[in-house]
Amino acid sequence: MNAVSDTWSKPIEPPSTCPASADIVIIGGGIVGVSTAWFLAQDGVNVVLCEKGHIAGEQSSRNWGWIRKQGRDVRELPMMIESHRIWRSFEEETGEDVGYTEGGCYFLAATKKDVEKYESWMSTAREFELDTRVVQGDELANHIENTSQTWPGALYTASDGRAEPHKAAAAIARVASRLGATILTGCAVRGLETEAGSVSAVVTEHGTIKTSAVLCAAGAWSSMFCRSLGISLPQLKVKGTVARTAPGPKILDGQCFDKRVAIRRRQDGGYTVAHGGGNLLHPITPSTFRFAFKFLPALKQEFGSMGLTINGDFFTELATPVRWALDRESPFEKQRVLNPAPSRRTLRRIRKNLNEVFPALKNTAFVETWAGMIETTPDVVPVIGPEERLPGFFIATGLSGHGFGIGPGVGKAAAGMLTGKDSGIDIRPFRLSRFFDGSPIRMGPAL
Ligand SMILES: Cc1cc2nc3c(=O)[nH]c(=O)nc-3n(C[C@H](O)[C@H](O)[C@H](O)COP(=O)(O)OP(=O)(O)OC[C@H]3O[C@@H](n4cnc5c(N)ncnc54)[C@H](O)[C@@H]3O)c2cc1C
Repeated sequence: MNAVSDTWSKPIEPPSTCPASADIVIIGGGIVGVSTAWFLAQDGVNVVLCEKGHIAGEQSSRNWGWIRKQGRDVRELPMMIESHRIWRSFEEETGEDVGYTEGGCYFLAATKKDVEKYESWMSTAREFELDTRVVQGDELANHIENTSQTWPGALYTASDGRAEPHKAAAAIARVASRLGATILTGCAVRGLETEAGSVSAVVTEHGTIKTSAVLCAAGAWSSMFCRSLGISLPQLKVKGTVARTAPGPKILDGQCFDKRVAIRRRQDGGYTVAHGGGNLLHPITPSTFRFAFKFLPALKQEFGSMGLTINGDFFTELATPVRWALDRESPFEKQRVLNPAPSRRTLRRIRKNLNEVFPALKNTAFVETWAGMIETTPDVVPVIGPEERLPGFFIATGLSGHGFGIGPGVGKAAAGMLTGKDSGIDIRPFRLSRFFDGSPIRMGPAL
């Protein structure tokens, strides 16, 4: 059974009808889009979500499933703490299974210097009253079983959780739909119509929806969508390769990150595994050159853990127009699901490292492999906010490789932004203008 890739490999299910109007239209059915729809539906808002492919067909089903507070940028922590609260109560509140459980999260230190870095993050942990600790010696050895390694220490948060990405966004979409949200799949948004400079309608491949408010939650496509409206959103993509194992012997309950292997226990008793350090591959495209200057700090921080490649993506992007007619097929329909091939080389390295670090899993086979395109902003922190130059257009995107865990929190914040209701989450640190108003590009901790 291909438990994960079933999410995106099934036939597209287009809508039978398209609503003529809505209070709010959401573009994108990833964790951000469905969570926003859920919070809006709870408030009785008439919301329509348009997804060009499948719910969670892209990043939101392909990720590792880590839900962590530790190691985050301080700007994200209040929203992440709220997100954690939402994950904790979701199953009881809705009756839906998303595989949420708390087995703890470990960042495993390769050197004493790493331990010092973790210790320096403890002041943030204390400020936000997290249960994060630096663990060492026997205590660490007791937490992680069946390993050939000893680590000088680890950053550890017992309450950090995990869920099953191939279940989660679909479950949230179902709950939103039960509360009255309209969820359309196989329904690409081609662009917007405006009246007197403000949003007046969303043009989809299946018809036009009159609305005065639109949320762009289009994941890796957000930059291209915004560019078609004349809005610059700095965003680049990196490919991550992942494997799923058959059920295997226990090594830990939660998830851990070592420079060679990142591993999470799955609900089915198997593991989701990836390369810890050298997992990411950035395919160079024209956007790389357009945004190069803004991404310099991120490139410096990630140098060593990221490879560069040039492939067909360069020419695909080069051949994609900046604007297109809204009555013809758009680039979003041409590529319904962004489905990059997993890197065979990375898979070989994951297998080798897994065997070395956790020899007990040597005979536990990889039963499924896939890749996902992660989108990232220059400071690796989301963009959430209204776009002042186009009243009625709002953005919640750029979750930068750690958006699954914080997704429900982003959804709550985005719903508040759209209705004016106080979500209790300050979204000002996430405004798009931070990349253009001379603010320094501030990176989070490099743990
Ligand atoms: C390999 C990998 C590992 C990761 N591991 C973790 C992890 O362990 N923990 C964690 O917190 N995060 C992780 N992430 C990151 C996380 O998956 C993402 O940050 C998050 O899923 C982004 O959600 P989203 O809703 O913004 O975007 P997406 O899930 O990408 O959804 C965007 C949706 O918009 C749709 N769309 C785009 N344009 C249009 C259009 N014009 N019309 C209609 N629909 C459109 C797309 O089809 C897509 O389904 C990982 C990501 C990957 C790829």
